[in-house]
Amino acid sequence: MKILVINCGSSSLKYQLIDSEAEQVLAKGLCERIGIEGSMFTYQKAGCDKVVTQIDQPDHKKSISIVLEALTNKENGVIADLSEIGAVGHRLVHGGEEFAASTLITDEVIKVVESCNDLAPLHNPANIIGVNACRELMPETPMVGVFDTAFHQTMPAEAFIYGIPYEYYKKDKVRKYGFHGTSHAFVSKRTAEILGLDYDKAKIIVCHLGNGASICAVDGGKSVETSMGLTPLMGLVMGTRSGEIDPGVMEYLGKKENMSFEEIMTMLNKKSGILGISGISSDFRDIDAAIEDGNEQAKLAKDVFVHRVASYVGAYIAVMNGVDAIVFTAGVGENDPGARAEIIEHFGYVGAYIDAEKNNVRGKEAVISTDDSKVKVLLVPTNEELMIARDTKAIVDGLNK
Ligand code: AMP
Repeated sequence: MKILVINCGSSSLKYQLIDSEAEQVLAKGLCERIGIEGSMFTYQKAGCDKVVTQIDQPDHKKSISIVLEALTNKENGVIADLSEIGAVGHRLVHGGEEFAASTLITDEVIKVVESCNDLAPLHNPANIIGVNACRELMPETPMVGVFDTAFHQTMPAEAFIYGIPYEYYKKDKVRKYGFHGTSHAFVSKRTAEILGLDYDKAKIIVCHLGNGASICAVDGGKSVETSMGLTPLMGLVMGTRSGEIDPGVMEYLGKKENMSFEEIMTMLNKKSGILGISGISSDFRDIDAAIEDGNEQAKLAKDVFVHRVASYVGAYIAVMNGVDAIVFTAGVGENDPGARAEIIEHFGYVGAYIDAEKNNVRGKEAVISTDDSKVKVLLVPTNEELMIARDTKAIVDGLNK
C-alpha cells in the first residue's frame, strides 16, 4: 500500500509518499509560506534532485492539490493516479488524554482533536486544516491521525501530575503530556531490535536532540517519563527554547524588565536556549565553530546543554531503576559525536563507555559504546514519517479484515 504522510504546520506542509511494504520513500517534499507571498514548493522523487518552484499557495487546500498533482504528474510523478494512495497518515501534535494510540480520522475524532486545541494552539488547528483539506480532495481515502503525545499516555500519574492544586488537572487538564512520542517509539523499538533485546523487558533512554529536544525513559516498551511537559517548552535547553526554569523567573523579570506575559513567553520560546546563552546561533554547527575560535559564551551554551541532558538521563536511570541502552537521535544526536561523548562521560558509574572510534559516525545506525560497556550506547536515526506510515497501514489493514 502507498501511504501519503502529511505533517501540516500553520504556514508549511511536509509530505512523503511511502511504499509501506518496501518501507521506501517514493517522493517527498515541502510546501512553504502557505498563505504568505512568495510560496515555495519542493518536490523530490527518490533518486532524483530536488525541484524547487515558486507557486502561489493561498491556503492548505491549494498546497495539497499541488502535492497530489506533482505525485501524479506524467513526467515527474511516481503514481498513475490518486487511487494508488491507499491511505493518508497525518501527524497530529496534541491528543490530550483522549488518544493513547493512532486512530482512524472521523468527524467525531476531529471534534475531539479540536477540543485539545487550547493545549497546542500553534499546532493543532494547523494539523486539522491539513486533515480537512485532504478529506475534501480525497474523500474516499482513509485518513489516520498519529499523535506526538500518544506514546507518553502510559506514564504513571506520579510522573505526569504537577505539584499544583489537583483541581487544575481535573478542570483544565494541566499535566505533563510529553512530545516527540512518534520518534521515541520508533527509536526505542529499533534499539531493542538492533541489540536483540526483548522490547517488552528492556529499559531504554532515548535522547531526541534536535532543534526541539526531549528525553524519554522507555521501560518494557512503554514511556514512563519524558522531559517535555504541558507544552514543548519544558525540559532540556533547546535551540531557542529555555527548557526547565524556575517559574519565579517570570514574575521577577516581568517586574524588573517591565515585560508582558507575551514578551516573556516569546523570549522563552524563541530567544532562549543555545541561541540565548551563546548570543550567536541556535545551530550547534555554528556553536562548535565558535568554540573552535575560543568563544567562551558558545562553550558555556554547550556545557549547559550537556549538563542538562546528563541530569535528565541520570534521573531517568533512577526512575527505571536501571538502564540497558542510551540512544541518541535527531539533528544533534545523530551528527555531533562530541556532544554524545561529553554526555556519556557522566555515566561511567553505571558502566556506560563510549568507544571514540565507533562514535566517529554521523546519521546512521551504530552501536557506539565499547565492547565491554555494560550499558549499550547507540545512534539510531529517527524516522517519524515511517512510523506514521506503519501505524496508518496497521489501522487501514485492520479495517479491511
Ligand atoms: P532537527 O531539529 O532534528 O532537524 O535538528 C536540527 C539541529 O541539528 C540543527 O539546528 C543543528 O543544531 C543540529 N545539527 C545538524 N547537523 C549537525 C552537525 N553536523 N553537527 C552538529 N549539529 C548538527
